[in-house]
Amino acid sequence: MTSQETTAFTFSREKLESVLKRRFFFAPAFEIYGGVSGLYDYGPPGCAFQANIVDVWRKHFILEEDMLEVDCTMLTPLEVLKTSGHVDKFSDWMCRDLKTGEIFRADHLIEEVLEARLKGDQEARGQVVSEGKSDDKKRKKKVKEIKAIKLDDDVKEEYEQILAKIDGYSGEEMGELIVKHNIGNPATGDPLEPPIEFNLMFETAIGPSGNLKGFLRPETAQGQFLNFSKLYDFNNEKMPFASASIGKSFRNEISPRAGLLRVREFLMAEIEHFVDPEDKSHSKFDLVKDIKLNFLSKSTQIEGKTECAIKSIGEAVSEKMVDNETLGYFIARIYQFLITIGVDPSRLRFRQHMDNEMAHYAQDCWDAELLTSYGWIECVGCADRSAYDLSVHAARTNEKLCVREKLPEPITVDRLEIDIEKKKFGPKFRKNAGAVEKWLLARTECELETLQKDLSTDGKILVEIPGIEEKIELDDSLIHIERRTRTEHIREYTPNVIEPSFGIGRIIYSIFEHAFYPRPDDADRCVLKLPPIVAPTKVLLVPLQTNAEFKPIVKEISQVLRKEKIPFKVDDSGASIGKRYARNDELGTPFGITIDFDTIADGTVTLRERDSTTQVRGSVADIVKAIKTITYDGLSWETGTKDLKPFESKSEE
Ligand code: AMP
Repeated sequence: MTSQETTAFTFSREKLESVLKRRFFFAPAFEIYGGVSGLYDYGPPGCAFQANIVDVWRKHFILEEDMLEVDCTMLTPLEVLKTSGHVDKFSDWMCRDLKTGEIFRADHLIEEVLEARLKGDQEARGQVVSEGKSDDKKRKKKVKEIKAIKLDDDVKEEYEQILAKIDGYSGEEMGELIVKHNIGNPATGDPLEPPIEFNLMFETAIGPSGNLKGFLRPETAQGQFLNFSKLYDFNNEKMPFASASIGKSFRNEISPRAGLLRVREFLMAEIEHFVDPEDKSHSKFDLVKDIKLNFLSKSTQIEGKTECAIKSIGEAVSEKMVDNETLGYFIARIYQFLITIGVDPSRLRFRQHMDNEMAHYAQDCWDAELLTSYGWIECVGCADRSAYDLSVHAARTNEKLCVREKLPEPITVDRLEIDIEKKKFGPKFRKNAGAVEKWLLARTECELETLQKDLSTDGKILVEIPGIEEKIELDDSLIHIERRTRTEHIREYTPNVIEPSFGIGRIIYSIFEHAFYPRPDDADRCVLKLPPIVAPTKVLLVPLQTNAEFKPIVKEISQVLRKEKIPFKVDDSGASIGKRYARNDELGTPFGITIDFDTIADGTVTLRERDSTTQVRGSVADIVKAIKTITYDGLSWETGTKDLKPFESKSEE
């Protein structure tokens, strides 16, 4: 186990879960009705934390890169998602236990059983058993197979190889693995049906007739693609540019598990960066090129290994390990964002998708994965999706979703062109004439080539046009396709799309794990060391005692903090000062202002820092200034408080 992994596993998930539940960061939705798997409500600190993360995201991406934000509807007609490929392909593989009716997600099942066998092997060899990827407590109890059984070395190696490649298997391959390795229901060992596909979208009908089928969107991306032309216009037809969207997405996961990590409704923040396919350089790449990252490339995974290579994003792009500068730029920006909001850099890696894991049209894809006690979790996907999305929607709707660029010098091009006998179209196709013409004019060079070939072989062609029920027959008298040479002043192209896609809930949970630790001198006092910028509440205001003399001062300082828009809470309960601090340490509150008897005398207060518990003293104005610069300008505690007097803290008890 690497040192990174040890850090992750020495923490207590049970303790963290108890804090998150007790302090209502989030909780199962509809809990008093028994709850529904994969659905969660966020409580006050969870909401504030999420809002702060989204705020940083907006500033880091939308403001910094001049992105164009859109907010599109979640209800999406079937036709859109049919065209995008989601209706046919947005699915996972599941296996059913015929006896009990229990359903398992095929890849998770294989992972769980093989990990359990590897753990059994470790036990048999007398090694320390580490927690694996699918060690969800309830499940672990159910896995019958954790028995101390030693595996042959070649079997062990094969299992490890399968686990390294688990994200890349097809349904059929998983079916074969299940048979070959005798994988059954983990609880009973009973055999399972071969894997079948299950579409993850929630289906619905829009309107009372029930005729317009639709789905809750599984991602925010499609709305951005459909608005491409309006956004391109809004951007004064300048390329490249990016759109961005933050909103809920829905996926009917087969086996929601691991709290916020696999849910059925979640907040996504997505960027679609539209770029010239012939020039994927990025004007700001130089600013990030020296950032060093942990890369797990596809070639390493194909070898069945999981060791990361540490190199700069500049090196990764120049070696072509990362396909292009724009993709590399976003990978580095994702890294910077995650670190800003509290991700531990040693528990962050970028894993490249293997060829069979990536959509056929994607050019390259890297996931930002965070190490948690559930294993490495994909939290951000960053893919070069080529021209796929815009092309399919353009072909389906006959709308041009492309860029027209004035060329510096005219060029000569040689291409297939189609001539249409418009006069004959009206009488022949009547109300469909316009749609047929639009469809023909939207064909790509490749499609025209096929049409031309069929036309010259048969003298006529039969085509299916979306929106027209009957097939349309076209012959030489109606259309003519010919290769021509022309001088052009305009270049027309469909942009490629680089898509960073963030699952906010997964990031939130991972940060909780990365930030959670018990005080070394008191394991029952836990701390969430959330960075001040994202902490739900920034300041705890505590009068030393419930003394009436403190009340007006509390009121006065509250007004100052409110005016400065610093989120704070007052704790004037009778609990000891140490207890009050501790309660807020586990809420992630970075600062405490204490009002004591000296405050009455000279107006000074103390400021306590959550992680080090060190304190300084100064006037309210100076203390508030320090809080603001540390929280919002990113200054360290030392720099932000360098002009304040160190304060010898009495015991926090
Ligand atoms: P994908 O479109 O599948 O690449 O997902 C994009 C991002 O959404 C992932 O990187 C995750 O952070 C997040 N995500 C996907 N599925 C879920 C889920 N079931 N629960 C929570 N987050 C998810």
